[in-house]
Amino acid sequence: MTESNMSLNTKKQLPCPVADKCGGCHLLHLSYAEQLKLKEKRLHELCGKFGKFEPIIGMEQSYYYRNKVHAAFGEDRKHNIISGIYEESTHRIVPVDSCLLENQKADAIIVSIRKLMKSFKMRPYNERSGYGLLRHVLVRTGYFTGQIMVVLVLTSPILPSKNNFVKALLKEHPEITTIVVNVNNRFTSMVLGDKEQVIYGKGYIEDELLGKTFRISSKSFYQVNPIQTQTLYGKAMEFAGLTGKEVVLDAYCGTGTIGLIASDNAKEVIGVELNKAAVQDARTNAKRNQVKNISFYEKDAGEFMVQLASQGGKVDVVIMDPPRAGSDEAFLSSLVTLSPKKIVYISCNPETLARDLKYLTKKGYRMKKGVGVDMFPWTNSIEAVCFLEK
Ligand code: SAH
Repeated sequence: MTESNMSLNTKKQLPCPVADKCGGCHLLHLSYAEQLKLKEKRLHELCGKFGKFEPIIGMEQSYYYRNKVHAAFGEDRKHNIISGIYEESTHRIVPVDSCLLENQKADAIIVSIRKLMKSFKMRPYNERSGYGLLRHVLVRTGYFTGQIMVVLVLTSPILPSKNNFVKALLKEHPEITTIVVNVNNRFTSMVLGDKEQVIYGKGYIEDELLGKTFRISSKSFYQVNPIQTQTLYGKAMEFAGLTGKEVVLDAYCGTGTIGLIASDNAKEVIGVELNKAAVQDARTNAKRNQVKNISFYEKDAGEFMVQLASQGGKVDVVIMDPPRAGSDEAFLSSLVTLSPKKIVYISCNPETLARDLKYLTKKGYRMKKGVGVDMFPWTNSIEAVCFLEK
């Protein structure tokens, strides 16, 4: 972070009018430099006893990093259309036109859609009565490709004057590359429904990370902070120190991003992931990048490891990126049985990271180094990557 940035990143100069209601930015009262210090301290407190951490890596520009933006639509007491974020742990919509964390183009597109609704006689969904058409808008942006997807979540598959609506929106935002109608007519707090219809463009966008291209559809899991994702994955690759001879396991692989990036410098990569759609995306991504030395398994990572260990499988490096709950006993005990030379553990929750590090360091592994990468500035989420060796 540069010095000029440090002084810019203070609450006083860039306040958020809805901070109290939204509750998304837990650390708005701190400067960015203070946030980094706090996160570093927390990491050290929880995991410092297992090994040394390099200085936390922050962002040059800590705002507007979110490539995925969601707005709920509704109306106020006077029946004016509003769009924004749900008030913390409620379904009350806090009107928001621009957010410190969200991609600014995405925010502008959402405002344009809200303004167009009136002339197209498009009513927002009313949660209480169940009437209305537009429930949510989801905008996903490809940071490195500039591609933009707009997902209109409607209660019905029919968008009146569809072609004219698309035309009007594209006139204001020619940068949009695809528009999708998603139908969600159930009484649910899930944003997206099952049925989709592409009304403009390809129905998905692509983005790039460390030289590989990834397909992102409305529901794909994809890291929300593209700049720091590159930093994080870069660190994971640095720690893994691949030479081209290794068998690498990418556990909790999502859409295969880490494994695909590792594939150039590995003999073979195996990815394992529980979510069916993510595995499908991973396979598509492998084809898209013409990667031949990777295969994906749709399975619980713990079960997969048990199976692999019982079959005497041989793995040189395990890169693992579990959800907040961390890994489980089945996974960790089989990991120890498989006995890879290196383990690279990416974590979004230092508490479960500490628990799992405790297990691994008792079973013959040593944590050589670790580093925090600030994936979510202004929030209290902490992401880290640790390197363990046998
Ligand atoms: N490495 C990916 C995804 C990390 S998120 C990336 O960087 O993009 C964690 C992933 O773990 C999610 O995709 C989730 O679906 C998956 N997951 C959660 N529990 C799992 C389990 N028990 N077995 C396998 N995968 C699991």
